[in-house]
Amino acid sequence: MPAKVGIPRSLSYYQLFPLWKTFFEEMGAELVVSGPTTKKILDDGVKCCVDEACLPVKLFHGHVADIKDRVDYLFIPRLTSISKGEYICPKFGGLPDMVRTSLHGLPEIISTEINLRKNKRNSLKAAMEIGHYFTDKDSQIKSAYKKAVGCYNLVKDNFEKGYIPDFIRPGKTAETKSLEKDRNLNIALVGHTYNIYDSFVNMNIWRKLENKNANIITIEMVDEKAINRNARQLPKKIFWNYGRKAVGSAMHLLNEKNLDGVIYVMSFGCGIDSFVCDLVERRIRRTTDLPFIVITLDEHSGEAGLDTRLEAFIDMVRWRCTDKK
Ligand code: SF4
Repeated sequence: MPAKVGIPRSLSYYQLFPLWKTFFEEMGAELVVSGPTTKKILDDGVKCCVDEACLPVKLFHGHVADIKDRVDYLFIPRLTSISKGEYICPKFGGLPDMVRTSLHGLPEIISTEINLRKNKRNSLKAAMEIGHYFTDKDSQIKSAYKKAVGCYNLVKDNFEKGYIPDFIRPGKTAETKSLEKDRNLNIALVGHTYNIYDSFVNMNIWRKLENKNANIITIEMVDEKAINRNARQLPKKIFWNYGRKAVGSAMHLLNEKNLDGVIYVMSFGCGIDSFVCDLVERRIRRTTDLPFIVITLDEHSGEAGLDTRLEAFIDMVRWRCTDKK
């Protein structure tokens, strides 16, 4: 019987799942992914997690609760850095400890640290440590690692070309990233992947915008080289991986003449979002007259409130478009 490895459909899932999936399958493990977010998963997470945590971290706890009784291992890596010279939110590093403290009856947690800040080769070191849970053969782990990185890069490249991967939006095999002239509106949706692609958490903001005939562009659809080129223009380097991407992609999109508006989706209580959102907003206000709104999500967010704000925003975008003609 293959070992069952549980992966919560939350936080790093929305970015790194193709990497984990290929690696664990190559190791002969069976993957168990928690279900799409529901009210029950959210409520379970809110109940067991500390009050001070942000919504995505609470939700992560709910996803762990959803799978913990069905797996041999839980995969909760201690993510410190996923790119050279940059950090990610420290809460990712504390997740294994938070989960151990807040939930009972857990299977063994694979909580290997992944820290690429100083050296990208640390990823192979982490893969070897994780792989040894399943085999003693170093060659098998190295081969699985190579395939996993290849698969991850392919998904990432396709995403930049506009193909939204199936693990994020099932059934949505192809999208377009180009700012379309014949589509009514082109809207940039900026935010963390786990807020942008979890349709329960963001109260179906994609569907709501698409119903208004809007073409949506996200950070993941912007060419990484363009992101870096723009981020380098800032007077000071942003040392958060997400911050560089959010500001760099916003700066790139602002130069595109067909962009009609920007929506920033953030989590209540998120320190990184509060400052990255401010940087994006200042850049927009200084360099363009584009409509911009911030949607803040927490466990108390009401759908009616979101609908009203989106309606008003889209009306404003349309008036501006009409005025410019
Ligand atoms: S970056 Fe913000 S929203 Fe994400 S886990 Fe950290 S505090 Fe929470």
